[in-house]
Amino acid sequence: MHYSLNTLPLLCQSTSGDLFISCVQIYGHAEYSSVAILDFVFYWGHRILHTKWLYKHVHSVHHEYATPFGLTSEYAHPAEILFLGFATIIGPAVTGPHLVTLWLWMTLRVLETVEAHCGYHFPWSPSNFFPLYGGSDFHDYHHRLLYTKSGNYSSTFTYMDWIFGTDIGYRKLKALKRATVEDNIEQKKH
Ligand SMILES: [Zn+2]
Ligand SMILES: [Zn+2]
Repeated sequence: MHYSLNTLPLLCQSTSGDLFISCVQIYGHAEYSSVAILDFVFYWGHRILHTKWLYKHVHSVHHEYATPFGLTSEYAHPAEILFLGFATIIGPAVTGPHLVTLWLWMTLRVLETVEAHCGYHFPWSPSNFFPLYGGSDFHDYHHRLLYTKSGNYSSTFTYMDWIFGTDIGYRKLKALKRATVEDNIEQKKH
């Protein structure tokens, strides 16, 4: 059974199991669509902020912290808050979710960006469980480098960087670290 997104508030008042399942399906559709739109818009918005003029006058404020911590996730020039905030809002604006879905979306979005800036790779970090999820390790690399060589522009999931080859430096560093760890293990065996 299919319903328009605009009928969701009405449907959620029903006690029918069938309608409840439809609510869950529509909720899932709105969340997944919003994540995909966020990934695309945020990547290009962020990459544009790394052009010379915009970096100097706007995005450099956020990059004052080369080793960020949670609160710095929201530390940025007001123009950047408006510009990249658009990436978070455009998904719900297009999919028209239920108000509760919108609250959950905004909450998860803030938690995601705080975790990405926290500076710790915890055992419970989503990047340990979800393939292509960015997280703190991925975004730390972005903050550590000069604006011209940054890369790692993605927000939640990292496939946009992989598609456009802007995570090459990060992947090389990861491979180098893995090789070093394996070398150390081999040396300890002998
Ligand atoms: Zn940046
Ligand atoms: Zn950042």
